Amino acid sequence: MNYEANPCQDYESITIDELKERTSSLLNLVTEGQRPLRVCMNNGKEFLLCPQDLLAPICDADFRLILLSAMRYAMGRNTYMPAVVSDYIKRHIRFLDDKFLALAADDIRRHLEDYAEHEPNPNLWQGLFDALETGQSARATRQARKSRFCPACGKPLDVISITDNQHSPGGFDVIAHCQNCHSDYEWFCDKDGGTSDMKKYFFG
Ligand SMILES: [Zn+2]
Repeated sequence: MNYEANPCQDYESITIDELKERTSSLLNLVTEGQRPLRVCMNNGKEFLLCPQDLLAPICDADFRLILLSAMRYAMGRNTYMPAVVSDYIKRHIRFLDDKFLALAADDIRRHLEDYAEHEPNPNLWQGLFDALETGQSARATRQARKSRFCPACGKPLDVISITDNQHSPGGFDVIAHCQNCHSDYEWFCDKDGGTSDMKKYFFG
């Protein structure tokens, strides 16, 4: 199996002592039975208590390649597969990694450039391409979209514009507005999410 990293390492962990008494018997049930347990909370949310191994097939780095193969197979075909593959990727786009998004978008772009006139579903692939691009830019600007507080009144600012910084690859110039003071501020956000001091911004 081809793990890039432990897929669960970012999750908060608790010791068995921190769990309530009943929980340990439930955990035993889950680990011994290798079957997840649905946990329903009072607020209507649900989570699964499951052995980590259960996620192995999709946390496997080869999963990305298998999905790309399915997409390459489906392009140019006039069967039900293009819709199956495209809908699946759109449905789960937030769980697919940056590398997949970049590779898949690149494949579709080249396919549409080279075989556009033979492609039976150009709109379907263009739609998926657009979804991948939107997903990529949403991730790229995720750090820059983080709100900061108005230096004058302390209210959270609304980010109104994020543009590529011409001098710093991966960095953005951010402009934000304070609803309370009706002032605008600008700052620079580097590719790692570090931000410069705020300056008052004047349009025009
Ligand atoms: Zn303000």
